[in-house]
Amino acid sequence: MSMISDNLQRVRTRITSACAAAHRSAGEVALLAVSKTFDADAVREAAACGQRAFGENYIQEAVEKIGLLADLGLEWHCIGPVQSNKTRLVAQHFDWVHTVDRLKIAQRLSEQRPPSMTPLNCCLQVNIDGGANKAGVAPEAVASLAREVIALPGLRLRGLMTIPEPAERVEDQLAVHRRARSLFDALRAQGLPLDTLSMGMTGDLEAAIAAGSTMVRVGTALFGGRPAKT
Ligand SMILES: *Cc1c(COP(=O)(O)O)cnc(C)c1O
Repeated sequence: MSMISDNLQRVRTRITSACAAAHRSAGEVALLAVSKTFDADAVREAAACGQRAFGENYIQEAVEKIGLLADLGLEWHCIGPVQSNKTRLVAQHFDWVHTVDRLKIAQRLSEQRPPSMTPLNCCLQVNIDGGANKAGVAPEAVASLAREVIALPGLRLRGLMTIPEPAERVEDQLAVHRRARSLFDALRAQGLPLDTLSMGMTGDLEAAIAAGSTMVRVGTALFGGRPAKT
């Protein structure tokens, strides 16, 4: 068996075990394979093992891969920062974007989504641990942004996404993931039709699943280490 196939099996087992430990059904947690910096052949290999959803951070790099792999009918998720000058590429090439953090970006995506395509699935990125220089909308501002995004044509609001500061201790990972889940539940209680909580990566997917993640974004555990990006 190839390395990617082995890794995929191991990650699926981690997800299944974490779901069992949390008394959740394994079908409640989707795996997004984060293929940033890895080439189209690596994605092809993961796809051959049944993986359908892939996450990319660097939009230009992603658009090339999406073109090379169009024959596979994969589902592509933008999980990197989206500047105004990149919204058109995101709207034209991706199925999901997890990193909407202001109305202006959502409006551009809405205007630029080709009418022939299905609505672009969106998550609002929340600055859940309040880092001063971090991307993401403040937790107290999420509800009003969600109401504005829901009204935009060409977009389908699906949920929230978080990237907490890496924490060593599981208790610390759990605490921040639980805050995100509480926010998600509060929005749903207000009637917002959200079904996706995108949180958890290679280092903290068990804690994220215990706290109620519905989609984990895993790169390193599937494809190996990445060169440091400068
Ligand atoms: C790179 C990245 C991941 C994957 O991280 P790993 O630790 O390699 O699993 C997940 N989410 C986002 C937003 C990323 O940029």
